[in-house]
Amino acid sequence: MPRPVYENLRAHGEETYPHECCGALLGKPNENGWQIVEAIRAGNTRTDSAHNRYHIAPVELVKIQREARTQGLEIAGFYHSHPDHPAQWSPTDFAEAHWLGCSYVITEVALGKAVVTNSFLLAGTTEEDKRFALESIEVDA
Ligand SMILES: [Zn+2]
Repeated sequence: MPRPVYENLRAHGEETYPHECCGALLGKPNENGWQIVEAIRAGNTRTDSAHNRYHIAPVELVKIQREARTQGLEIAGFYHSHPDHPAQWSPTDFAEAHWLGCSYVITEVALGKAVVTNSFLLAGTTEEDKRFALESIEVDA
């Protein structure tokens, strides 16, 4: 993905620290997965426990989808941050991941600083056999 997009999604996590940030990734499919073009910031609607859960409101998601379509892009995935927790998916992340074939990017923000960023492809063909597979993030030089 373009370096500014990568920096932007990591910076988002630093800005919302100690709460989680979340957003969507827009891009185009290519032979290696997704070519990410843009990161769209979303408001975290979970005010009950914004430090360990994230959620994009359906109305916001529809808006993001429309925005993607007008640019000839698709929703390629989602990103969120883990304040003071490793950049590994949680059981809640897995349970709430429903976009098969999309990338779920998680950034560990330690003491307000973005550290590790990992991406997990939601592989599988149904909700029953879905699984997260670690994938590499290529950031343009
Ligand atoms: Zn998470």
